[in-house]
Amino acid sequence: MNSYNKNPIPTKKETRHLHVWEICENDYLCFDSATCSVYSSTNISSFKSLINQPNTVQPSNTYSPLKHNFTKNYHPAQFVFCLTDACNLNCEYCYQGEYHGDNREGALKIEDALKNVDILAKSKRKGVKTIIFFGGEPLLEKGLLKEIVLYCEKEHPNVKWAFSMTTNGTLLDEDIFNFIKKRNFSIMVSLDGPPGSGLVKTSKETIENIRIAEELAPNTISSIRVTLGPKKPPDLISLVDFFENLGIKRIYVALASLGTVGTKSLYNWSSAKDLWISEFNRYSDYCISFFIKNKRFPYFMPFAKAFKMYLTGEIFEHYNPYIPCGIYRGMVAVGQDGNYYPCHRFVGMKSAIIGYDLFSESYSKFVSDKLNQYGNRDVKCKSCWCNPLCHGGCPHDCVDNNMEFKSELTDDYCDIVRSLYENMFKIIYKIMGNKKLLLQKGIIREQDNCFRLSSEGE
Ligand code: SF4
Ligand code: SF4
Repeated sequence: MNSYNKNPIPTKKETRHLHVWEICENDYLCFDSATCSVYSSTNISSFKSLINQPNTVQPSNTYSPLKHNFTKNYHPAQFVFCLTDACNLNCEYCYQGEYHGDNREGALKIEDALKNVDILAKSKRKGVKTIIFFGGEPLLEKGLLKEIVLYCEKEHPNVKWAFSMTTNGTLLDEDIFNFIKKRNFSIMVSLDGPPGSGLVKTSKETIENIRIAEELAPNTISSIRVTLGPKKPPDLISLVDFFENLGIKRIYVALASLGTVGTKSLYNWSSAKDLWISEFNRYSDYCISFFIKNKRFPYFMPFAKAFKMYLTGEIFEHYNPYIPCGIYRGMVAVGQDGNYYPCHRFVGMKSAIIGYDLFSESYSKFVSDKLNQYGNRDVKCKSCWCNPLCHGGCPHDCVDNNMEFKSELTDDYCDIVRSLYENMFKIIYKIMGNKKLLLQKGIIREQDNCFRLSSEGE
């Protein structure tokens, strides 16, 4: 049996699913969507006894209205400054053309930027305040970026600031390395693979600049983001190896956005879906053998956050569905037009503009309404076993042109997502015997309520 959402064991309650799949011959796992628990067995029929077990977590949590104390908790903690909508590259999967058209050259006005630094500094959110520089390509506005950072330090010296930037890496230079290395500043470089790999973003300059960074500002390039389109998948093992050899310690592999706003779909994943699923299956086997051989995971782990949460037991406390990212919950994007948006991805979408004072009661109500609308939307996620893990995919891809959460991701895309979660559990199951090693490596702690995997449906 190797199905994704085809044959969940029918249960009495609509929102509970026992999803069973075979990870190798006569070795099955079963995911209970009501409790997020996973069971293993060599006998598929043994899972049927689970149906009559009481749920430790009520399935009704799945779509109950969310209750938040917004005045306390939903002040911004993180601003994404979209410094410009222009870019020196022209990647085929880039979403910028969706709202900004071909003639992009707008830059954020300095007065809009500084005004928002003051707002973030005043936010009642405790702890670190983060500014993420985004674009287009943020380094086209290097002077503006530096001015914002210097203003934060001069005018708000008591705030604990953290800065980061997502860049294509072509314009990184000695000047910027010298500027950031004295600060709490990290860089995510967007690069898809080596030149000649046939992938979209493979700039030689970026690779050279990553090497220079290692000399001038070690550890400032904290991660690489690889975006893959729906053509034939690359050999993930070689790809990850390439980045590890460049000294990168965190690699995120993302599937290019569906961009399903309205009727527009950037990509159709149907033709290569099976190839992607088999490549992820192959890669998960590699992760298991890599862990056994090297006593660590490779630097790309699919769903690394969910993986870690499962290992530590956190997922059992936090899996109430909510928007699966930071939008409306502390993160706000400031577009180059000076308007507020839920995240960088919405910048330029008129109906997504947040026209509220971020400290006002009307903003709290607006956020509350949006979260409830997302949580209660009537889409296929309601009957998907994977929902407590996936939470419905990127919210940007689930809105219509009026900014109502009504759309859903395509079936092909969902099949790939579900196969990735199946692989995540396969990896966890296969490394369970290495709990001692996981403890030694600090991947889990003794007090963590980890590994709710159990066998034979016990
Ligand atoms: S987006 Fe797809 S995979 Fe995710 S919960 Fe919804 S139906 Fe399931
Ligand atoms: S809405 Fe989508 S693009 Fe924006 S932060 Fe959330 S997951 Fe990322």
